[in-house]
Amino acid sequence: MREAVTPAAGQAPAEENRSTTEGFYRGLERRMLLGSRCRKCGALYVPPTPLCTKCFGRDTADESLSGAGSLVTFTVVHVASPEFQHLAPYAVAVVRLREGPFVLGMLRGVKNPDEIRLEAEVFVDFESSVSLTPGKTRLVFKLESGS
Ligand SMILES: [Zn+2]
Repeated sequence: MREAVTPAAGQAPAEENRSTTEGFYRGLERRMLLGSRCRKCGALYVPPTPLCTKCFGRDTADESLSGAGSLVTFTVVHVASPEFQHLAPYAVAVVRLREGPFVLGMLRGVKNPDEIRLEAEVFVDFESSVSLTPGKTRLVFKLESGS
């Protein structure tokens, strides 16, 4: 979703510095997890945003993130949409990235959802097989143990 952003009085438009959701998805295609950091207050957002909702600053810069984090919570999907039913049961997790932001993603490589533990270390991976758009890459998470 794009929103019209009008530069504040005295500020030059800095289109080249505008972080966008489109840039986030282009990053996924390059196997990069991008956030944006507010240059005024330091707040970090995933996916990137051109407007800081903390200080309302409009000067943000894309930042490449480690992709490492820990599992905050998850749910196991047994009845999925038709596109994903072949993957069921699968877990969808909320992950707190090492850098702080929370990100939602499918948890892949789990043989038995009963063995998933909260606070488990996870890392981001990139898959096109879990995308509703053919050829497009989505982020997923995998357990550090690789199980
Ligand atoms: Zn800010």
